[in-house]
Amino acid sequence: MNIYAISAAINLMVAVFVGGMIWRKSQNRRLANTFGAFSLSVAVWSLGYLFWQLSGSTGEALFWVRFFMMGAIFTPITFLHFTLTFLKKEKSYRTLLYGGYTILTLFALGNFTDYFVVGVEQILAFNFWPEPGVLFHPFLALWLFYAVFAVYLLYNAYKSAESDTKIQITYIFIGTVIGYAGAATNYFLWYNIKIPPIGTIGSSIYLGSVAYAVVKHQLFNIKVILAEFFSWLLLSILVINLFLSSSSQAFIKNLVILIGVGISVLFFVRSVYREVKSREKAEELAAELQEVNQELKYMDQQKSKMLSIASHQFRSPLTSIEGYASMMKKGTYGEVPEHLEKPINRIFKSSTQLSHIVDDFLNISRIEQGRMEYDFQEASVKDIVADVVDEIKPTANEEGLELAMTTDGADDYTAEVDVDKFTQVITNLVDNAIKYTQEGSIEARVSREEDTITVAVEDSGIGIDPEDQDAIFEQFSRADEAKEADVVGSGLGLYIAKQIIEAHDGEIWAESEGEGEGSTFFVQIKTDKKDRHQNHEREVMNKEQA
Ligand code: ADP
Repeated sequence: MNIYAISAAINLMVAVFVGGMIWRKSQNRRLANTFGAFSLSVAVWSLGYLFWQLSGSTGEALFWVRFFMMGAIFTPITFLHFTLTFLKKEKSYRTLLYGGYTILTLFALGNFTDYFVVGVEQILAFNFWPEPGVLFHPFLALWLFYAVFAVYLLYNAYKSAESDTKIQITYIFIGTVIGYAGAATNYFLWYNIKIPPIGTIGSSIYLGSVAYAVVKHQLFNIKVILAEFFSWLLLSILVINLFLSSSSQAFIKNLVILIGVGISVLFFVRSVYREVKSREKAEELAAELQEVNQELKYMDQQKSKMLSIASHQFRSPLTSIEGYASMMKKGTYGEVPEHLEKPINRIFKSSTQLSHIVDDFLNISRIEQGRMEYDFQEASVKDIVADVVDEIKPTANEEGLELAMTTDGADDYTAEVDVDKFTQVITNLVDNAIKYTQEGSIEARVSREEDTITVAVEDSGIGIDPEDQDAIFEQFSRADEAKEADVVGSGLGLYIAKQIIEAHDGEIWAESEGEGEGSTFFVQIKTDKKDRHQNHEREVMNKEQA
């Protein structure tokens, strides 16, 4: 086989593979069909070219020349068709396109007569080079016109294309120019210009780069395609080898090799396909997860915003209800008739409860949005606890509970705290102790170790299952005992308390032997204020970033 026959064989293989692949896999049917037609033209031309090169007689050569001319006749028009479909300009150039198909079909009919190819003659290394008939010259003019026109359209589209399409058009454009320039080297010898058809192999580049552009456009996986291509190449070589077998024994041997390689290639392509598919799926899943994550984050933000807006809206009417109920209770509007005392008390109690919940919501949204502000100053933890106990004592007594405070007698209980927020935490613990204790006593102890101060609030109440002792510090978390005891609550107080104590660089935890055994809540902060502000600021920043 000479170099020209090899070029034609390669072109044939590439045309069949690339055309077949796009035709099979492309989702854009119009593009697939026009590309298929174009590849078919190149395949017919290459097949004819190959056998023409292998021909041993004038008659045989003439037959294959006419055969390959069939492909050559339709190559530029099918390519123009593909280009117009690709650029979505089919409608604007209808006449030119279908006019071209009609005229070229006439030339194809002419190809069956001697007016197109007169005969073959020896020229350079070619024994059977074709001689042009009268019809050949207008055909060549038309061939050139359609080839140049497609290149011109691509060039124009390239100039106005967006970056993504620009890359695609570049591939098509470069491939087309190389392909046509290569194919055009075939026409010199028809006019006795002594330039051999050295560019024939350009057709493979042509097809390859156009196909690559289409593939890129449609996001086919290049790995699978390459695997298929090399398998196809290997099998084609083995098939050729089979037909070139010198004896029947060699034929059988080559056949066995072909079947063996065929089966392994099939498995190989399949495994590549599977691998690529599963990776694509994983990537898709990851992208989806990320999207869901973003959405959740957004929804979370919206929730915090809504919580904050709603709570603010609740705040002022609630303050009014609470205020008026309190004034009525105190007799500001005259003595309260006995039968109204109970309902007014209920209004007051419920509105107070509700305003605590609203405060909790406001605190939560502040914490979540990183808007909780602290005003740290030196204060006596003992005094804070004493104030809380004094304030709540009447309520405890009303419920029939003892409430007392003790200290370990240290000289100094000073620490750097946000007094309001620290008070809020201790109030919450003592309130809870009252809420969750039916009978008995509550004790608030303040003690000082070397560089820490600990507040312990101990009650003789319902107790907490050891398994729940960490969970109760989470949002909306309530232990079963609390639900069973039928005590109302939102499950937010301890969560907020934990956030506040952590901002103080301290710790908060609960201890209980279990159900019915009472509980003790501990708050421990350092007297050493070093680093606390930085710690808090860092935390706020982290939250904001998250
Ligand atoms: P709430 O009291 O509104 O439910 P908290 O966050 O203050 O919310 O408390 C969370 C949960 O911790 C309560 O529902 C309860 O199960 C448990 N808990 C809190 N304090 C006590 C206590 N002193 N004794 C027993 N359980 C408690």
